[in-house]
Amino acid sequence: MKAITVLLLMFTVPMGCLAQSPQSDRQQFIRVEAPVIALAHVRVIDGTGAAPREDQTIVIRDGNIAAIGAAANTPAPNGATVVDLTGKSVIPGLVMMHEHLYYTTGPGVYGQLGVSFSRLYLAGGVTTMRTAGNVNGIMDMSVSRRIAAGEMVGPAIDATAPYVNGPSTFLQMHAITNTDLARRHVDFWADQGATSLKAYMQVSRAVLKAAIDEGHRRGMKTTGHLCSVTFGEAADLGIDDLEHGFLPATDFVRDKQPDVCPGQARGQQALAEVDENGAPFTALVKTLVDKHVALTSTLTVFETFTRGRPMPPGLDVLAPQLRDAFQRAYDRVQQNPESVYTTLFPKAMRMERAFARAGGLLIAGTDPTGAGGVVAGFSDQRQVELLVEAGFTPVEAISIATLNGAKYLGRDARIGSIAKGKQADLVVVNGNPAATIADIRRVETVIKNGVGYDPQKLIESVRGQVGIW
Ligand SMILES: [Zn+2]
Repeated sequence: MKAITVLLLMFTVPMGCLAQSPQSDRQQFIRVEAPVIALAHVRVIDGTGAAPREDQTIVIRDGNIAAIGAAANTPAPNGATVVDLTGKSVIPGLVMMHEHLYYTTGPGVYGQLGVSFSRLYLAGGVTTMRTAGNVNGIMDMSVSRRIAAGEMVGPAIDATAPYVNGPSTFLQMHAITNTDLARRHVDFWADQGATSLKAYMQVSRAVLKAAIDEGHRRGMKTTGHLCSVTFGEAADLGIDDLEHGFLPATDFVRDKQPDVCPGQARGQQALAEVDENGAPFTALVKTLVDKHVALTSTLTVFETFTRGRPMPPGLDVLAPQLRDAFQRAYDRVQQNPESVYTTLFPKAMRMERAFARAGGLLIAGTDPTGAGGVVAGFSDQRQVELLVEAGFTPVEAISIATLNGAKYLGRDARIGSIAKGKQADLVVVNGNPAATIADIRRVETVIKNGVGYDPQKLIESVRGQVGIW
């Protein structure tokens, strides 16, 4: 008896010290849940880049799209819950590829926001996401697992292992100094449920190669925010994806030493001087396209570094201290006319467009890092707007942020576009984002696996708390 009591104490006392469980109250966020749902008289923007189709009906059964067609010939089945969406649009749920469950909360410190960010991503229309970088350790996998089990609300998450990096000044990263450690890191986190890898700025070519190969053996793709390794070298090593468009490329730094990061600033200075129509840049694009390396656009985070840009959306949900901290960072940016981003931000847009036009797989993400101001969910909508500013049509931009992400994940047979037989991951938008992309912010309902969530309730549940949990 005594032993059992002690055991019980051992397990109950520490648990009792933890904050309340986030798993309750899924029901409070649900707007519509029924065995059969018919979305009637809706404009369909299907995610393939095709022109919108007016006055359609979509029948959702058991979480899947059971039928889709002109409203006149697509009756709602008997007993269906019918939602009249006259004047409104549906787009596929966003598939966003550079998200995080953390946020900049102090100098060199990233706070774990697994609960609030999951809700905000879903509220913003994100139904699938990759955490392209993890400083939370097991949290990314735990959140992914619990969302999949229906115990928490949020998007389906491709959970990335903690960063694959060499020695660095980052407090929340491992220093992986040899290939044996790299393989052990990959295997350990794969066993914990990580499904992808992210390499970082100080990684060596040898460690990156070992991680890529071990990852592929375990069914995981590798992406990177690189610096010590050039884009061209990483493509040769077999990397699957590169983050932040071309902005971290050190390929054009003249005296680049192998395995050494010359500093992000030097890389960007070199990039600012590169002729984007010249042979060296065109050759790099061709290498990436030929080797099937995807490129992730994260214009949202760079917009916060660029003078003269509007305040980003969603700041009002942040904890007040973090809202003030971002306001100060924003003011500093406005006072710096020398910033390289003045020319580099529009150039980054043109380079991403060049990559896509050359046949590369451009995918979209947001990267809630920097000095703050990239707020989950809100920034995902902003990223689509910025792709339109970069020169894509609204339906092309939506396709980049939906079907292209699904293709990268190898899940495009199930998600990423609106078609019969696919999973019912849909965003109901008040307005017509094919004509006015800003309407993508007017989300009325986010349907994931056939269940409709109320974005306002999700947002209200975390208002003023984002940055704390
Ligand atoms: Zn990132």
